[in-house]
Amino acid sequence: MELSELLGSAARAKAVFAEVRAGRDPMRTLEPGLKQRLAKVSRAPDFAVEETSTATDGTTKLRIRLGDGARIETVLIPERARTTVCVSTQVGCIRGCGFCLTSTMGLLRNLSTEEILLQLVASRRVARTCALPNVRNVVFMGMGEPLDNRDEVGRALAILTDNEGHGVGARHVTVSTVAPTPAAVLNTSGWPGQLAWSLHAARPEVRKRLIPTARHSPRALLESFEARLSGARRPTLFVEIALIDGINDQPIDADAAADLFRGTKLEVRFNLLPMNPGNGLGFQTSPRASQMKRSLQAHGYFCSLRRPRGRDEHAACGQLVIQP
Ligand code: SF4
Repeated sequence: MELSELLGSAARAKAVFAEVRAGRDPMRTLEPGLKQRLAKVSRAPDFAVEETSTATDGTTKLRIRLGDGARIETVLIPERARTTVCVSTQVGCIRGCGFCLTSTMGLLRNLSTEEILLQLVASRRVARTCALPNVRNVVFMGMGEPLDNRDEVGRALAILTDNEGHGVGARHVTVSTVAPTPAAVLNTSGWPGQLAWSLHAARPEVRKRLIPTARHSPRALLESFEARLSGARRPTLFVEIALIDGINDQPIDADAAADLFRGTKLEVRFNLLPMNPGNGLGFQTSPRASQMKRSLQAHGYFCSLRRPRGRDEHAACGQLVIQP
């Protein structure tokens, strides 16, 4: 049943979502009868923010306990004028990336649409109470591989970007994926928001070492992104590389990445991130990030170097994990 039907008017439904967007509890605005009705049919899952930890740079990690006791992590990354929320899509992950602590959990289960969205609800509340800038961007880069949970992620994206729903602009939403298969990439057709490909290495043998579940060549995956984005007005692919010392940060790696995308019709924008250290997985962060950036730029590509955020509270990329 639509919320407006349930509450008896579209205006009331709008008012409820306005409260959610402002990080407030919508129940406080409803009359007791409506409150009861909403509580009865609401599919909003039980959750509790068990722990909040803030790094020296302001990055704030939430540990959220779900109704069945499963736990996930969500990260708020405040900038000067806006906050970006990094949401999880699974409890654990099956992709096995060697530099990522989430992979040590294996896959415990997928998150439901509601569990994905509640992370935004919780984040908006925390942003309001901690006086952080408004939440404007949402990135699907937390625990889990979004394309392995396609249906729930697709529904969450639709509600997230609906003006009558959570109202996050599609250009402020990014889904990051290792691209498990070409078919999985094509199956994201119609999703709002931008796609970011966690390539990590263009040389197939290096990529396989970093992502042991990678079964398809970078070229085959690139072709699927080209097909997926072919109808877009300005087809743009964000390409992420977590830089690891001596593994994927050499001149040969920059050349391989440049070669892979040579001739593509996509606008390719590289995003380099020195791997976050100290996670005991046997890889070290790269000291050659600036050289890699210069090499890719010399090949004619747009390339940015992402500033690591939240490392001291283990809130950075690759550091999210729930210990048993
Ligand atoms: S980097 Fe992403 S896809 Fe790889 S194991 Fe970690 S959560 Fe999964």
